[in-house]
Amino acid sequence: MSECQCRKCPNGFDSVCWVDWGRENLCTATERHTVTNDSIQGTGVVPGVAYAPAVWVRPRPELPEAGEPIAEDAIDAEYARFEKAADTVAERLGARAQEAVGEAGEVLKATVGMVRDRGWRKAVKKNVRSLQRAEFAVVNATDKFIDMFEKAGGLMLERTTDLKDVRDRVIAELRGEEEPGLPNAHEPSVLFADDLAPADTAGLDTEIFTALVTELGGPTSHTAIIARQLGVPCVVATGTSLRDIPSGEKVLVDGASGTISRDVDEAKARAAVAESAEREKLIAQWEGPAATRDGHRMQLLANVADPKAARASAKSQAEGVGLYRTELNFLSAAKEPAVDEQAEIYRQVFEAFGDRKVVVRTLDAGSDKPIAYATLQEEENPALGVRGLRIARNNEGLMTRQLDAIAQAAESRPEGAQTWVMAPMVATRKEATWFAGLCRERGLTAGAMIEVPAAALLADTIMPELDFVSIGTNDLTQYAMAADRLSPQLAYLTDPWQPAVLRLIQMTCEAGKRHDVPVGVCGEAAADPWLACVLTGLGVSSLSAAANALPAVGAQLAELDLDDCRAMAEAALSAAGATESREQALAAIGR
Ligand code: PEP
Ligand code: MG
Repeated sequence: MSECQCRKCPNGFDSVCWVDWGRENLCTATERHTVTNDSIQGTGVVPGVAYAPAVWVRPRPELPEAGEPIAEDAIDAEYARFEKAADTVAERLGARAQEAVGEAGEVLKATVGMVRDRGWRKAVKKNVRSLQRAEFAVVNATDKFIDMFEKAGGLMLERTTDLKDVRDRVIAELRGEEEPGLPNAHEPSVLFADDLAPADTAGLDTEIFTALVTELGGPTSHTAIIARQLGVPCVVATGTSLRDIPSGEKVLVDGASGTISRDVDEAKARAAVAESAEREKLIAQWEGPAATRDGHRMQLLANVADPKAARASAKSQAEGVGLYRTELNFLSAAKEPAVDEQAEIYRQVFEAFGDRKVVVRTLDAGSDKPIAYATLQEEENPALGVRGLRIARNNEGLMTRQLDAIAQAAESRPEGAQTWVMAPMVATRKEATWFAGLCRERGLTAGAMIEVPAAALLADTIMPELDFVSIGTNDLTQYAMAADRLSPQLAYLTDPWQPAVLRLIQMTCEAGKRHDVPVGVCGEAAADPWLACVLTGLGVSSLSAAANALPAVGAQLAELDLDDCRAMAEAALSAAGATESREQALAAIGR
């Protein structure tokens, strides 16, 4: 242990970081800082390089104190004042939602829904009736919902940013202040924020805001979703050290590595931006199918959520579907859809991909994807609870009916079309044997996700039971590193570049080779072009990711030989942490 050089701890700790994590320090505030002053490390969520002055979003309003209670006879007028302000905010956001397209529009509509939410307004009314001023009533009512969302955890936790945004806009309106959010920038800039709300990011002018950087957020936060859609380089979860950079200071943002560099030589920065633009061109030209420069084939597949997403993804270079997350079709279903109903949904996904391979995953309900009819209500620790295949333990019918529906839908497929089915969260050979038996009774090709470390450790005994496996790096990383995949503070641990995760992947690939069982990867790791090269070097035979991520992966693979990929893998496996793993992998090929 050595004394920390970090002087940026928000809690004022100067020398209490426990160092020797390579370049990363963890201070007592669990913030992640780089030791050097000239760069800040966050989590890169959209690749690309930008060099421009930073510009901070307009500050959020100061939250009001309780203050004097209002008079009883002022209650109606006070609530009317709140309603007018809330309606104005809703109308303004609604107008923006009309202009925004695609996911941005949907995201904005959801925010408008929050401003108009009857439950929230009722809570404000209750507070005003207990003589609180409208501003304070809004804060209290919103806190109640934030508390609920935080307790629910998972995806709900990330929606607390939207709630706070709604609260702040209404308070600013009540006070007659300028709306918080996007600054008026007139030249290319890098947008800095603690976190960005949908209302900020939807409809963002990408000619002006050439990159997004946030202190908070994670790979699934709204900032990341919208940045991906807009194709703007984006880094999230930098921690509060970002605040050291004032508006106007020029920064170099690398959305792949998650680095924000300061004091960069202007010429070098411009060269990095030009190189990135050149890469974008190569990516745009890439047509597939994927192979390394020396011809080693890699099957690139798409992750899809439902028939609509499948139809869109089918137009890409994907050779099929590597992960169809069936649970995402049923998030709002109150009761289990009948076999015929399910079969119709699956049939549409199959139809979109014609005779191409489709890997269907059985319900991964639970944890951050609760499904009313399949999830236990109260669990202390849902990520470690009854989720994935485990839900079938007390309700085998849920699994057998879904498999019946998949088999029924598969009957409509053209001769020779591959329909593979895999179970999430398999942890033991017994589970693998049981699931494979159910699949084969129905003529389906049986596989398992390798996302619980136990399954990777037991790959040699599990493989002979199965026809294929697919590594879910999102959960494999969360469980191997004992770090919540949705926690922004732990993003440095929930990084699939972590050597411990790569070792589990290596073990799985080696077992796959011994038993002649194909090993795919369908977690977010497959979308990272450099990591995709490492996975290729480790022996993975297919990569499945969001369809729009595939060209970057294909273009990267085409630049290297298989031996380069192997050298990258070897270097990454022996690194001290995730950042070093990436650096060493790139150094192994002279980058
Ligand atoms: C994974 O865990 O990597 C995976 C693909 O499954 P999900 O992200 O749906 O949990
Ligand atoms: Mg998973």
